[in-house]
Amino acid sequence: MTILRKERFDLPEGIIYLDGNSLGALPKGAIERANDVMAAEWGTSLIRAWNSADWMALPAKVGDRIGRLIGAPAGSVMTGDTLSIKVYQALQAALQMRPKRRVILTDSGNFPSDMYMAQGLIRTLDRDYELRVVEPEAVHAAITEEVAAVMLTHADYRTGRLHDMPSITAAAHAHDAVMIWDLAHSAGALAVDLSALGAEFAVGCTYKYLNGGPGAPAFIYVRPDLISEIAPALAGWMGHDAPFAMEPGYRPAMSIERMRVGTPAIVQLAILDAALDVWEDVDMHALRDASLVLSGLFIDEVERRCPSLELASPREGSRRGSQVSFAFEHGYAAMQALIDHGVIGDFRAPDIMRFGFTPLYLDEADVVQAAETLGAVINQDLWRHAKYQTRSLVT
Ligand SMILES: *Cc1c(COP(=O)(O)O)cnc(C)c1O
Repeated sequence: MTILRKERFDLPEGIIYLDGNSLGALPKGAIERANDVMAAEWGTSLIRAWNSADWMALPAKVGDRIGRLIGAPAGSVMTGDTLSIKVYQALQAALQMRPKRRVILTDSGNFPSDMYMAQGLIRTLDRDYELRVVEPEAVHAAITEEVAAVMLTHADYRTGRLHDMPSITAAAHAHDAVMIWDLAHSAGALAVDLSALGAEFAVGCTYKYLNGGPGAPAFIYVRPDLISEIAPALAGWMGHDAPFAMEPGYRPAMSIERMRVGTPAIVQLAILDAALDVWEDVDMHALRDASLVLSGLFIDEVERRCPSLELASPREGSRRGSQVSFAFEHGYAAMQALIDHGVIGDFRAPDIMRFGFTPLYLDEADVVQAAETLGAVINQDLWRHAKYQTRSLVT
């Protein structure tokens, strides 16, 4: 069974989209589903749809579907909110599990929001917690008996560099620290097996490789044996054991439902549910193989044409996620020029041109054509045009 299923996506003509690592493409089924949930469910059933269309069960149902893609058993993944919120929830629960320890360990390659959420949580707790930030290569050695939680993003958002999940998880557990993996750039990009890994928590977003659409709900995984021990800090009514009993005191649900907070974004969840239809028969190992073929080909084709671009991603496929980054001093302008010429990637400060590879809707011909266009942008100095020099708010 081939991995490529371009026909399931609504891609604009004349565009090669290498930014599915940032915002996935639009699955055709999502349009239909959005229309249906709006017109038939919301429009016609109104509030009755919470029961008649089973809106109440949608966050867990979608969580289970994501679970299949990351090796998590049914009943261990909940969707909702944003990834930043899910990071906060996981971290708070982790600290609660190791009350005598005061260090949260992360690395300098982590995404800023993950660090900001940790800093905010530390300020709220006001109990001498420390966010210890080390270089990615130094994580192993920094895992000590002081560490309450190791909080890492599997694939570096700038370079795609992968952490070795099994060995770091094992090191965390050897020192009795709680392991939290952020799978933002892993879910839908490569094979993850949370059950085999044994990590306590994992979080991720669904608008990147999973194609759930802008602002699609995030997810959180809790290792099944721990769910009943967590006392959620974000104790919203939707995570209550009986939301409609309207009790004055919080009692968490006896399942992964306790990781819910407030009313779920049903339209966005329904769109995500439809986006997951595309993943129904995707083998994650085959997807990973296809992704490495595409990203490896891109590296070869770009390096051959553009010696002034410096590969910022690991060359070795097994150490690289589903993206390739090149450092270039004029990366912002070059990316604007490239986008203007029909190849969409993105830019991350200070000088990273980033390209994501999504084998569900990209093939080798796309990759070669994208490299050709990039070659023209660089070698014909197309990026020097004044119109490519002004930075937009979102890069
Ligand atoms: C994309 C990304 C985020 C974004 O968080 P949101 O709350 O969804 O905006 C956070 N962390 C990592 C590691 C990411 O890659």
